[in-house]
Amino acid sequence: MIITDSIETLKKYIEGFKNEKKSIGFIPTMGALHEGHKQLLLKAKNENDVVVCSVFVNPLQFNNANDLINYPRDIQADKAFIDGICDLLFIPTADKMYPSPPTEKYDFGELEKVMEGKFRPGHFNGVAVVVGRLFDYVQPDRAYFGQKDYQQLLIIKQLVKERQMPIEIESLETVREKDGLAISSRNRLLSPKERAIAPQIRRILCQAVELQPQFSPKQMEQYIFDKLLSMEEFQPEYVTVADAHTLQPIDKFEAIQTAIICVAVWLNNVRLIDNILINNNLCK
Ligand code: AMP
Repeated sequence: MIITDSIETLKKYIEGFKNEKKSIGFIPTMGALHEGHKQLLLKAKNENDVVVCSVFVNPLQFNNANDLINYPRDIQADKAFIDGICDLLFIPTADKMYPSPPTEKYDFGELEKVMEGKFRPGHFNGVAVVVGRLFDYVQPDRAYFGQKDYQQLLIIKQLVKERQMPIEIESLETVREKDGLAISSRNRLLSPKERAIAPQIRRILCQAVELQPQFSPKQMEQYIFDKLLSMEEFQPEYVTVADAHTLQPIDKFEAIQTAIICVAVWLNNVRLIDNILINNNLCK
């Protein structure tokens, strides 16, 4: 595996791949790599000649200084974890990604006014700035994103469309622990006690989906919110039932093709997100 922190070196390798007419699959990450990331890399490996992965904890997308400081980092373990799957690992520093303060301003309209966009002001602009730059450097044929960050996935699709980048955005269902907890780098921050109750988030979402015929979207949001709140360690930030294509809130389930429930929950000091598509009952 080639490892570099230099944009110039990255570009040289990319030029070489392009000259050899090799297709490039790209997975941008913030590191502390886990099975969810690995599945994205394996999908990319299956569908491309070359797999490029980036590890960069992007300060621009953090709206909370402590969250940025506490974000888990373990680059040595990351290298070992993806060696043999990844061909090129790009690990820039913030100085290299942002030699001067970035000025790009993106407008994702209604899509960024809800959920993560609403509760983490500036988050998606930060995501779009870094992913836009990484796409410019890596020039992938395909880029891979997880449905765990469902809103981010839609934002990236819009980014590529607006900038008319010739990149296919591929997505992967959320990879979960055996007990249903969505795998996340942030799970490393949970105490054993918190880790034991974290799967309740998924369980409550699954219960709500099973009860769906008796709920309107608003009633469903309330049901989930109350269930989460009833657990001492949970502090729900938002529970939103939305149209899965636009992420706008809905009044009736009948009016749309696919609905999604998205939640953000604080488990003491750790913020976890998860979601479930309503026509896709994969609860186990
Ligand atoms: P992150 O390192 O958290 O920024 O995530 C990098 C990419 O991995 C994003 O596209 C995430 O949506 C994706 N990802 C993170 N966790 C999972 C998971 N449990 N299952 C599938 N994809 C994931």
